[in-house]
Amino acid sequence: MTSRISIIIPSYNEGQNVDLLHRRLSAVALLLPEYEFEYIFIDDGSRDDTWGRIKTLGVRGIRFARNFGHQAAIEAGLRAATGEAVIMLDGDLQHPPELIPTLIERWREGYEVVNTKRADAAHAGYIKRLSSHLFYRALNTISEITIEPGSADFRLIDRRVVDELNKLTEKNKFYRGLVNWLGFRSAVVSYEPSERVHGNSSYSFRKMISLARVGLTSFSMTPIRFIAFMGACIFVFGGLLTAFMFLHRLITATDYFGGAAILAGFIIMNNGFLIFIFGLMSTYQVTMYKELQNRPAYIVREEL
Ligand code: UDP
Ligand code: MG
Repeated sequence: MTSRISIIIPSYNEGQNVDLLHRRLSAVALLLPEYEFEYIFIDDGSRDDTWGRIKTLGVRGIRFARNFGHQAAIEAGLRAATGEAVIMLDGDLQHPPELIPTLIERWREGYEVVNTKRADAAHAGYIKRLSSHLFYRALNTISEITIEPGSADFRLIDRRVVDELNKLTEKNKFYRGLVNWLGFRSAVVSYEPSERVHGNSSYSFRKMISLARVGLTSFSMTPIRFIAFMGACIFVFGGLLTAFMFLHRLITATDYFGGAAILAGFIIMNNGFLIFIFGLMSTYQVTMYKELQNRPAYIVREEL
């Protein structure tokens, strides 16, 4: 009895890497004869010959009409996969296929999610490592999920997790967060990332910012709470200031605090009030946004 494992590979302008990656995957597959591997390459609207290379492999392939982004490619792969487990890895050989036996081993031990964590070698530039580190720190501090710094979209997930992910209807998916949000039993395996063999990182600064924005806004209400909180603080401060100046004027019967000063205090109070109202209204918008995301209220692991 062999079980099938799907390997999904988002590829954007990876023409030079496709063959090499497929060869390395096949070499790993030879070591695991008890499994049948299903390869699904997703060509995310590449402008090089990525699709041409995929076609020569005799594997499954999905070609997007244009560049829709890494997370969309993962989504397409997850929906197409038929295996009992799905492994997602980048098409640029930065995620070593040689780690696959270890991922499968942990899965066999009962882990439904096997994440990977790169042992932070000097592979990526200093700026990328620093920004990634800061991003995860911020995300973990203010959101409902925790993601290990050094995580990438290189992991194995059990069929049950794939099915749950495929049920999610939100359009802007941040898989790193969603897999975590679902729950399930997870393990982490660390690896030494390799240098990109060919081509350049296609995660432009803009794409990275956009991913970070989706990650933050879809898992955290903290920025808006912070705005409402700041508004309330300014309101209270302005109010106290105005009251103090007003009373001082009344009690001492001097005009040490003139009308302009009192008016300034009043304006601070009023601005605080407006900011608070903004924050409050946004809280309702977030509530609506959450309804739109339409995430299930809970995910069941077992039933008797
Ligand atoms: N990728 C994609 N669509 C994009 C950008 C990237 O499918 O619009 C793929 C890319 O081919 C690679 C993976 O996503 O397999 C990660 O991209 P990249 O290597 O550029 O990011 P980095 O490793 O620098 O974070
Ligand atoms: Mg890469």
